[in-house]
Amino acid sequence: MDDGALLDELLGVARKLGVPVRVEPFETPAAGGGGRCLLHGRELVLLDARASLPDRVRALARALAGLEVDAVYMAPEARELIEAASAMAGAPREQVPLAPLSTLGVGGAARFFLEARDERAVLDALAWADRRGVPLRVLGGGSNLVVADAGVDALVLHLALRGVVPREVDGGIEVTAGAAEPWDDLVRMTVERGWAGLECLSGIPGLVGATPIQNVGAYGQEVSETVTAVRAVDRAGGRVVTLDGAACGFAYRDSVFKSRAPDRYVVLAVSCRLRPGGAPTVRYPELAAHLASRGLGVPSLVEVRESVLAIRRAKSMVLEEGDPNRRSCGSFFVNPIVAAAQAARVEALAGDPAMPRWPQPDGRVKLSGAWLIERAGLPRGETDGPVGLSTRHALAIVAHEGARAADVVRFARRVRARVEARFGVRLVPEPIFWGFGALEDGLPADS
Ligand SMILES: Cc1cc2nc3c(=O)[nH]c(=O)nc-3n(C[C@H](O)[C@H](O)[C@H](O)COP(=O)(O)OP(=O)(O)OC[C@H]3O[C@@H](n4cnc5c(N)ncnc54)[C@H](O)[C@@H]3O)c2cc1C
Repeated sequence: MDDGALLDELLGVARKLGVPVRVEPFETPAAGGGGRCLLHGRELVLLDARASLPDRVRALARALAGLEVDAVYMAPEARELIEAASAMAGAPREQVPLAPLSTLGVGGAARFFLEARDERAVLDALAWADRRGVPLRVLGGGSNLVVADAGVDALVLHLALRGVVPREVDGGIEVTAGAAEPWDDLVRMTVERGWAGLECLSGIPGLVGATPIQNVGAYGQEVSETVTAVRAVDRAGGRVVTLDGAACGFAYRDSVFKSRAPDRYVVLAVSCRLRPGGAPTVRYPELAAHLASRGLGVPSLVEVRESVLAIRRAKSMVLEEGDPNRRSCGSFFVNPIVAAAQAARVEALAGDPAMPRWPQPDGRVKLSGAWLIERAGLPRGETDGPVGLSTRHALAIVAHEGARAADVVRFARRVRARVEARFGVRLVPEPIFWGFGALEDGLPADS
């Protein structure tokens, strides 16, 4: 069978499967001939009219590989091609344990699991999940995640999109990083090159793609201050979109991705606008004090990064082998932001005018979750069976040997109830919960 006949045969298969094929001239450096894509939410195979016939045949076979072609009659040559492409594309694995892929290290397996190395693989995975009616969850570094003991009945997509591309823009630098770049590697690189904007976010675990989700922040900076664009697959429209900072709806530990449209976007890349030669951000008192203790009145970006890492290390807030507090998801609760009158009530109840507080631009007051927990009678290191508070930071819940997700959630409920009973403030959890039933103010009601 020559290439022309093979292409006709494959086009016939696509027709029987109800997948439209369009042939248009376009650039396909990566796909080499075309491939499957989504247009207005509808699946379609796009072939490059300028590609050679063998390239178009291969691209069409690849595009058909993820589809259920078993029931379709076709010439043996065409079936052979599709089967070879299927073997290369890799189907999702089943029952993949997630505990080793999360920093808390608890919970069961993903029903389906797939690693996506490029954008086309992401689109294929979404199409696969949609066809089967299986929910999709995106996994980054697993550092802000609690997986239920029963696991998660979904396709868990592990992104492996890498690459860092800096470019000059109006006297600044815009760095675009693939979703699977380790966040702290990116921060280190920008600090070493003298580009200001991310230095206080040193040492936060996880991958670039997750940073806009909860607008990661620490020591006086939030990623929202520098994010200019988030490239993502919008599952609602079935296409790749670019959201600017405003469209991300950033707020304190929140964004459109986390609360308003959870699961709608798969972040592919993040762009940050940085200031070459810019001064570091030193607005957080604890950071300023640390730099002063080192005799650094006018610190460099590198020195600020060093101080941030030192402060974080002292609180077990960087991931380090051998640290007994290592198995956590960082802060388990966000710092509560309350009305000024409520902050005054908490201060009176605690009888401590030195209560830590951060007045907000809207008149409300941010309180320290860790301080509230300790003052409610749960000191650092408090344990409850195989789980407990970190010995170095009361806001982190640590899973010890033998801990299950149910233990973590039960303990979190106990901590929250204690703070609420003592101060009338209800703590809201920071991590995302997978595989649990109903959430009550963000915390699983059952476990
Ligand atoms: C020791 C420690 C310290 C920490 N310190 C801080 C801190 O100082 N400040 C702070 O803000 N956070 C902190 N965290 C929390 C966590 O590191 C961050 O929230 C981080 O951005 C999570 O990244 P991840 O890749 O591990 O995401 P994951 O835990 O894998 O995922 C978290 C959520 O983001 C979603 N997600 C991940 N990637 C994508 C993507 N590409 N597209 C769409 N959705 C995606 C997931 O579906 C999930 O809902 C800390 C955690 C630990 C363990």
